[in-house]
Amino acid sequence: MVIVPLSRTILDPDPLAGLGSQRSSDGRLLGHFPFPEVSADQLIQVAPGLKAHRDAAEPLLAMQREAAADGVDLRVLSGFRDLALQKQLFFDVKAERNQSAAERAKVSAPPGFSEHSTGLAFDLGDGTRPGTNLKDAFETTPAFAWLERHANRHHFRLSFPKGNRQGVSYEPWHWRFEGSAEALKLFEAARRGAEIR
Ligand SMILES: [Zn+2]
Repeated sequence: MVIVPLSRTILDPDPLAGLGSQRSSDGRLLGHFPFPEVSADQLIQVAPGLKAHRDAAEPLLAMQREAAADGVDLRVLSGFRDLALQKQLFFDVKAERNQSAAERAKVSAPPGFSEHSTGLAFDLGDGTRPGTNLKDAFETTPAFAWLERHANRHHFRLSFPKGNRQGVSYEPWHWRFEGSAEALKLFEAARRGAEIR
């Protein structure tokens, strides 16, 4: 995999060069809504290499603790991702897999259009079933079953359910925090997009 030097990606003024013309009237690019990058002073380190928006950090850890008390090993695989990392995930993997932008966008958001840049979205896994990490098979795990029963109480919801109108592939592992007014506002368009069928 070719890793673009970080200095170059950070200095690039337009992470969407060549893609901007494909935005739809509601601001979406290849199905994904635009999201601002949370400022660094709003981020809290919740585990080594894992940062979350300060509003979501404690609810996330509380949800993990409650799952543990129920005997479920809920893991947080990914949280906040900055623009440079999202750019690598989108373009480098796209190149490696020889995918078109539209193909890549079914499974990964273009930089500037990822819920992860808000610090409010997380990829969750089951510690007892690591082979299902970031795979559809995560939906067969005890962790997913637990989330379906309890995530609402912690204000987490599945961003890309099966058959979502955004046209983004089903992602049983990707959950976003909607337990603050700011989060509700940020995700309003996405919530409508997912629910109206
Ligand atoms: Zn995700």
